[in-house]
Amino acid sequence: MNENNHRTQLSRNTRIVSDKKFTWLEKLYLPAIIKGMAITLGHLLTRKATIRYPEVSREFSDIYRGKHVLKLDDDGRERCTACGLCAVACPAEAITMVAAERKPGEEHLYREEKYAETYEINMLRCIFCGLCEEACPKEAIFLTDRIVNADYERNRFIYGKDILVEKPGQRVDVTKRQTPEVLEFKKKKNFKHNE
Ligand code: SF4
Ligand code: SF4
Repeated sequence: MNENNHRTQLSRNTRIVSDKKFTWLEKLYLPAIIKGMAITLGHLLTRKATIRYPEVSREFSDIYRGKHVLKLDDDGRERCTACGLCAVACPAEAITMVAAERKPGEEHLYREEKYAETYEINMLRCIFCGLCEEACPKEAIFLTDRIVNADYERNRFIYGKDILVEKPGQRVDVTKRQTPEVLEFKKKKNFKHNE
């Protein structure tokens, strides 16, 4: 078996190269140049696929999956009970937390008897799949239409509660993310987390 035969077996992506001589027309290169210019001009007339970001930003879908928010309830208490279901559901293993027990007098801070003392999401690992949101039984975590900012330091992409928990005066509206099925489910008062 010669070398060429051996290459043919390794790859089917082969091409026969001809040593055909150029005609006098081809030697002018004009047809090829005109053809190239026509393609370029054609692109000038088509709708651009790019935008002038950041001066212009695209309209996001109502259910765009961007930066997470850890929600407070109507009384301003953290909804998360550190059950860990979001971390288990996360395919990127981006979520870590440390649970703590609510002390007497902290009822106005934490909705449940157990809460997340620390809660971190590694935004470099996150693939914004939304499975954490789906897994949460307390409607505590949602993805939002906010984007994760660029940065130069890797450790600044580990978002803790200081970034993730919404501020009482700056509530994040997630009603558009709640499907009719979810809203129907929330009406069932026999489930403790719907009380
Ligand atoms: S959006 Fe997906 S990848 Fe990101 S933290 Fe949630 S479950 Fe993990
Ligand atoms: S965000 Fe939801 S699923 Fe995750 S630990 Fe808190 S309560 Fe559990």
